Amino acid sequence: KKLGVALCGLGKLSTDQIAPALQKTQHCRLAGIVTGSSGKVDTWRKKYNLPARSVYTYDTMHRMADNDDIDIVYVVTPNALHLEHTVAAAKAGKHVFCEKPLEISVERCQQMIDACKAADRMLGTAYRCRFEPHHLEGIRIAREQELGPVRIIEAGFGIDVGAADQWRVKRALSGGGALMDVGIYALQATRYLTGEEPVLVSATETKTDPVKFAEVDETVTWTAQFPSGANAYCTASFKVGGIKNFRATADRGWFELDPAYYYGGIKGMRSDGKPLSFPQVDMFAAELDDFARCVLEKRPTVVSGEEGMQDVKIMSAIYESIRTGRAVKI
Ligand code: NAD
Repeated sequence: KKLGVALCGLGKLSTDQIAPALQKTQHCRLAGIVTGSSGKVDTWRKKYNLPARSVYTYDTMHRMADNDDIDIVYVVTPNALHLEHTVAAAKAGKHVFCEKPLEISVERCQQMIDACKAADRMLGTAYRCRFEPHHLEGIRIAREQELGPVRIIEAGFGIDVGAADQWRVKRALSGGGALMDVGIYALQATRYLTGEEPVLVSATETKTDPVKFAEVDETVTWTAQFPSGANAYCTASFKVGGIKNFRATADRGWFELDPAYYYGGIKGMRSDGKPLSFPQVDMFAAELDDFARCVLEKRPTVVSGEEGMQDVKIMSAIYESIRTGRAVKI
């Protein structure tokens, strides 16, 4: 069975990645849209053959309650709107798959989790790398200690964020800058490779453009300590593009992915020369099919709301460390 997915927010990611990916899924189909821009409706309806009754605005989403074509709402709006749109979807009886970061504070993430629980609907966080074969192999190598226990993880994601008038640099909509937007990939990697939660983080921020980045972080570096003794050294940047990797060093060697977090072209390498190479997959199709299978089989997803909230909790600790100039225990 194919589950109907409604895309909420028809920006760049929905248009260029998610809608095309939905066409490649086994268990999903694009069944509806939620948009504030009436000008987009005709194009989307024609391109994806959508009936008029499956087109909603943010204010009419509650009417989805009587639309059986829609099973899942995929929330793809700016970070600080995820709560509002998730609650609306859950109240309309729909499962929710939500873009990263789940929301801009732990409290708001908790409200999303509570709303989905109250409606007996599933909540997932769109961590596409969790379904990508190179990342899955990295997790296997680390967890099975194929090269011994992992001691050090270096991970970073930096992009040149571009225009100064976008929501990504407005705190009210983004909740934060480089860390929230791209650093979250490096943070996730440190957590899924170790299979552990950091117990201590220490961070600094550098701002070279205090006008553009008046409201949000520009470049953040942080270290994190894990209970096993593993350490992570991480970077997030809205200024320095081209950082996109992780390297995990264990007792008998290392493995790395670079690029690790792009939409495609993922490349892996191991110190022992063994291949770390798999066919490229569409990560958005993979994450959506997994979520659909979880819904159909009524089993939990590895990218639950709680998993999304945990990263927001750690990012809050990283921001606290920047503010206070001290290491923060978690
Ligand atoms: P975007 O700016 O291209 O699109 C955002 C959409 O939200 C637009 O259609 C916009 O009209 C709509 N919107 C509704 N209310 C708005 C408001 N008050 N202000 C501004 N826009 C409003 O952004 P995007 O790149 O598509 O990002 C959307 C979400 O997806 C974010 O949470 C982002 O972090 C996430 N994202 C994830 C990935 C990934 O690889 N998983 C990549 C890019 C973005």
